[in-house]
Amino acid sequence: METIERLRVELGDRGYDILVGPQLIERAGREMLPLMRRRHLVIVSDEIVAAHYLAALRDGLSEAGVVHHTVILPPGEETKDLAHFGKLAEDILTIGIERGSMLVALGGGVVGDVTGFAAATLLRGIDFVQIPTTLLAQVDSSVGGKTGINTRTGKNLIGAFYQPRLVLADTSVLTSLPRRELLAGYAEIVKYGLIRDAEFFVWLEADGHQVCALAPEPLRRAVMTSCAMKAEIVAGDEREEGDRALLNFGHTFGHALEAETGFSSRLLHGEAVALGMVLATDFAAKLGLVGAEDALRVRRHLSGCGLPTRLAEIEQLVSHPRAPHGERTGPGRRREFGRPEVLFQRNRSHPAIVSHPATVPPGYRRAGRLRRAAAHGGACARRRRCRP
Ligand code: NAD
Repeated sequence: METIERLRVELGDRGYDILVGPQLIERAGREMLPLMRRRHLVIVSDEIVAAHYLAALRDGLSEAGVVHHTVILPPGEETKDLAHFGKLAEDILTIGIERGSMLVALGGGVVGDVTGFAAATLLRGIDFVQIPTTLLAQVDSSVGGKTGINTRTGKNLIGAFYQPRLVLADTSVLTSLPRRELLAGYAEIVKYGLIRDAEFFVWLEADGHQVCALAPEPLRRAVMTSCAMKAEIVAGDEREEGDRALLNFGHTFGHALEAETGFSSRLLHGEAVALGMVLATDFAAKLGLVGAEDALRVRRHLSGCGLPTRLAEIEQLVSHPRAPHGERTGPGRRREFGRPEVLFQRNRSHPAIVSHPATVPPGYRRAGRLRRAAAHGGACARRRRCRP
C-alpha cells in the first residue's frame, strides 16, 4: 500500500500539515476531527468534482460523526466572481454556521480560492480545510493561504491571506482529471524547478512524462517536492514581501494572456503560466540575463509535454471587441503595466533561473521598452491589473 506523506507549513500558531497520498478523501473525516472545534462543517465543491468525490467525502465524515452540509458551485474560472461569491456566502449563512464551524474546499484552485475567501470573511473568519483535486491545486493553490476572487477590473483583486488548517492532497483523484487540466498543473511543477531547484528541473526533463502519466512514484516525488518548496517559501515570506514573489514566475505574461482570452477555458491558468514562463525566459535571454540555450530548454521541455509555448497556439487570442470610445469592453481592457519579471542565471554552470522584479535594468521598467522587447519575443504585454 502506498503511504501517506506529511509536510508542515511552519507558520507558528497558523502552521498546518499537508498530507499527500492516495485515498485521502475517504479518511478526511478522521484527519479533520482533531482540528474541529465543533463537529459541524460545510463542504464547498463544484458540479464536476462533486459528481466524482462528494459521496466518498460525506461517507467518511458521517463515519467520523461530523454533521455536514454541501454547497455546489458551477465549475470554471467564471465562478470566481463577486456574484457567485455573494451567493455562496448567503448559502453558507443560510445553512447556519457558528465560529467553530468549518468550511471544506473540495475541488480545484477555483473552489479553493473562493472557499478560502469565504472562510476568511464569514463571521470574521472561520477555519477551513483544502482538499485539492487538480494537480495545479495540489502543487500550488491549496498551499500558502492566498484566497480571493476576480473582479471586472482584474484577477484576484479581492482577497485575503488566510491559511487553511489542513491540506489533503489525494493523488488518486488525478485519474479523472482531463489531460489538459493535468498538463496545466504540470506547468506549475516545472515552475518550481526553474525558480529554485535546478536538479529537480533536470529530473523533470528526463522523467516528467511519467509524472504526466500519473506513475505513482514520479507523481509522488513531483507533488512532494513542489509542496515542500512552496511550504518553505511561504514559511519564509507569508505575505509576499520578498522571496514569495518567485512563485509568480511566468504570471506577469501569463495573466496578460488570461485577460486577453477572457479568463476562460480557451486558455487555462496553468497553460498561461507555461506560455508566460517561456515568454519571460525568452525576454530574459534578449536582455542577456539568461543563456539562449537555457531559454530553449524551457520551451523544449514544456512543448514536449504538450503545453502551449507559442502564442499562435491560443485560439482567437484577442477576443474582446473594442468599445466606440476605444477602450476594451471585456476583461482584456488595458489598465496598466505590471512589474515585469525577469530572469537571470545564477552562474554560468547553473541552469536555474530566478525571477525578481528588482533585477530589471532601470530602462526596462518603462512600458514602451517592455512592450517592444516583449513583442519582439512574441509576447502580448498588455495586461490587466492582476494579483498572482
Ligand atoms: P479549476 O478549479 O477550474 O479546475 C479545473 C477543472 O477541472 C474544473 O472544471 C473542475 O471541475 C475540474 N476538476 C477538478 N478536479 C477534478 C478531478 N479530480 N477530476 C475531474 N475533474 C476535475 O482550475 P485549477 O487549475 O485547479 O485552478 C485554477 C485557479 O487557481 C485559478 O483561478 C488561479 O487563479 C488559481 N490559483 C490560485 C493560487 C493560490 O495561491 N491561491 C495559485 C495558483 C492558481
